[in-house]
Amino acid sequence: MKKQAVVIGGSIAGKLAARVLSDFFEEVLVFDADKKQTDTNPRKRVPQGYHSHALLKAGEIALQDLFPGFIEEMVAAGSVKLDFIKDVKWAHYGGWKNRFTSGYHIIQQSRPFLERHIQKRIDPISNIYIHEEMNVKELLVTEDKTCVKGILAVNKHTQVEQEVYADLVIDASGFGSPAVKWLEQLSYYVPIESVPINLFYASQMYQLSSAEKPEWKTLLMNPMLPESPRGGAVLTLEGQTYCVTVSGYMGEKAPENEEEFLSYTKQLPYPDIYEFIQQAEPISDIKIHRIPSQVRRQYEKMDRMPQAFLAIGDAYCRFDPVFGQGMTVAALEAQVLRQCLAEIQQTANIDLEKQYFSRCKRIIDTAWDMTITELYRHPQVVGRRPLGSSFKQWLSKGVFETSASNPKVYRKLVDVMHLMQGAMTLAAPSVLYEIIKHNFASRNNKKDHTRYIETNIEK
Ligand SMILES: Cc1cc2nc3c(=O)[nH]c(=O)nc-3n(C[C@H](O)[C@H](O)[C@H](O)COP(=O)(O)OP(=O)(O)OC[C@H]3O[C@@H](n4cnc5c(N)ncnc54)[C@H](O)[C@@H]3O)c2cc1C
Repeated sequence: MKKQAVVIGGSIAGKLAARVLSDFFEEVLVFDADKKQTDTNPRKRVPQGYHSHALLKAGEIALQDLFPGFIEEMVAAGSVKLDFIKDVKWAHYGGWKNRFTSGYHIIQQSRPFLERHIQKRIDPISNIYIHEEMNVKELLVTEDKTCVKGILAVNKHTQVEQEVYADLVIDASGFGSPAVKWLEQLSYYVPIESVPINLFYASQMYQLSSAEKPEWKTLLMNPMLPESPRGGAVLTLEGQTYCVTVSGYMGEKAPENEEEFLSYTKQLPYPDIYEFIQQAEPISDIKIHRIPSQVRRQYEKMDRMPQAFLAIGDAYCRFDPVFGQGMTVAALEAQVLRQCLAEIQQTANIDLEKQYFSRCKRIIDTAWDMTITELYRHPQVVGRRPLGSSFKQWLSKGVFETSASNPKVYRKLVDVMHLMQGAMTLAAPSVLYEIIKHNFASRNNKKDHTRYIETNIEK
């Protein structure tokens, strides 16, 4: 067992990293600039906690693996269990999806509620020590700068600085992570890929005054780029509360007061969110979060990297939140960390940094690819379109449209969206066949429709 590991940031990614490290290090020290999550309110340094957060199926499975019994515990505590196909009313690519009982169960809750319950699982682990309100300012390195040997942290209240030495340092300080800058000062260069999306999220919490509940548990209206950059969602959360979120890409103006919020929902392609708000009662302010770009820090592409330093969660890659992937990718990265540390324990002969980043890259690639396939439909989203983009866009559009009425294709799409399978499984001959059949049938329907109109006009 190695002696000491340090985690910078104790949010979801930091807690999951700490959970894994606690099996391999005598002591795991977590430094967070904010207070610990002791209740289910959003924390100051995690402002995205006010907004709708979906936990994908792959993330749920990873959490259950890291904390056995976690999902049952969440449901008992108040998470909403839903059948992703039957209980989600989803407008996507120009139509509503047909709903049916699928047995594809997931849990739904607010992000702070999820984080609080992860914290509850961390608290009893005797070798994890959380240092609240300690801002990490610097990495400490060996004299030749080839190895990270600790951190310099400063207490928020006393401003007293503390040097902490460690055998491994993991950056989990979220999207605002200063690690790339720290590394640059040490002459390490981290390549960065950034895709400007100019997205806003505006969210408000509601409750229903009547006993009558909607016939769905989640209502989704996805943006459709480039024609329709606006989207919205209503998520039923713990305590019979509802998080209503609207979003807009590429410079859409965020609604800043209740009147604008209502008017924004009225302009969505379907009236359902607007109608829901009409019969519900707001129980919070409107919170706005802007996401100028999705960014991946490509540690795996560094020419050389210092030893004993890793990154996880948003500090490594921040995704477009519309796809709901961030927390799930963090959980999958925590599993990779465990796998790498277990291999080191057995053979002591693997390059931890190289192995960790290259295995995580595969997870990030899958999620990233899915987002850019859609984002690059918008001409104002600048960036080099990767090879095969047109085929992927044709394929995803075909899958989205076909899935509305084809249960088999819908199931496949849900698996891919939930990161249970890679997107290229959608290119299986059986799916392509269904897409072509669907396209052919809708073209004929369109033709029939045109003929009908022409006949009417002739009459
Ligand atoms: C509007 C919005 C909606 C989203 N929706 C979804 C969704 O539906 N599904 C999903 O999976 N993901 C979603 N995400 C992404 C998700 O929020 C993140 O992927 C997830 O929270 C990542 O957690 P993290 O631990 O990496 O970082 P964060 O949760 O951002 O936490 C960073 C932590 O580091 C601490 N910290 C920062 N700097 C320092 C420092 N110098 N020293 C010490 N501590 C420090 C902070 O106090 C904080 O606790 C959304 C994001 C946004 C913005």
